[in-house]
Amino acid sequence: MGIGKLRLVDRDVIELSNLHRQILFSPEDVGLPKAEIAVKKLQKLNPDVKFETLTSSLNDDSAEYIVRGSDIVIDGLDSIYARYALNRACLKLNIPYIFGSAIETTGSASTFIPKKTPCLECLYPNLRDEDLPKCGTEGVHPSVLTVVSSVQVSEAIKLIVGKEPSLAGYLFYADIRDLNFDKIKIARQDDCKACGNNASLSEQVLPRKLVEEICGRERGKSVHVVTPKEDLQLDLIAVEHELSRRDLKIKARGNYGVTFSYGPEISVSLVKSGVATVVGANTEQKALEVFDELVVSGLRTPLRKVDPKFKVMLASPAH
Ligand SMILES: [Zn+2]
Repeated sequence: MGIGKLRLVDRDVIELSNLHRQILFSPEDVGLPKAEIAVKKLQKLNPDVKFETLTSSLNDDSAEYIVRGSDIVIDGLDSIYARYALNRACLKLNIPYIFGSAIETTGSASTFIPKKTPCLECLYPNLRDEDLPKCGTEGVHPSVLTVVSSVQVSEAIKLIVGKEPSLAGYLFYADIRDLNFDKIKIARQDDCKACGNNASLSEQVLPRKLVEEICGRERGKSVHVVTPKEDLQLDLIAVEHELSRRDLKIKARGNYGVTFSYGPEISVSLVKSGVATVVGANTEQKALEVFDELVVSGLRTPLRKVDPKFKVMLASPAH
């Protein structure tokens, strides 16, 4: 639609179970980084658009770095902690944040403009991911995702052309079960921890886990994501050499990530930022051990090309 530059951010790799609700991915892309393949497909649609691919995990530590320099941020996240971090980074850097979420047959969207409208934490304060329904168990209807993302895009276009977004100060809520669509007025809260009178954006109140279990994507197997504290800028050519030296079978290899077998039960996806998705480790501890053996001890030197500004993370294997 004439947008010259897009930065696509996703730490995840494509799974077979994603395909029914995606238009950018095909079966041959399974195991490859979502951001990389999305850019590849979109680049074909318009070769003149400039793309940036980031495989980082969005959290308190990375949010500002990820959104800095953007005119608009559009959210397709699946965690309230990540959304809180995004909300705060956008408030701090004065960037409009177009929120969207969906679960089961319901979806919602809103446009948060710093200093002008309520923010995410005015609307949904003090939520915890642990208490919220998960798409892995509840499921999400592809049609509602399409509705929500279309609304988000129309809000972005309004902002870009200088029109008042329809969801500034409003929450769009859709339930396709009975085809109900609502637009609800929302208010700014004086005591909001992110944008209220006594808000402190430098205060990190959100727990960030080094390892977390996510929606079970492969039947009967647990899936853990291990997120290093800093972007590791892995040298994937060196990673690939090390994997073949160790006879670990590579299942999919992209420019921003690789998926491989780690023994008979476990498969690992490693993206450039160092985020590892471990499938088949039954406990958080086991997932951390795999990560430690592969990345911290195994690929550390000389295989890991670390920018001097990045500290060695993983101070402790605790959360
Ligand atoms: Zn607020």
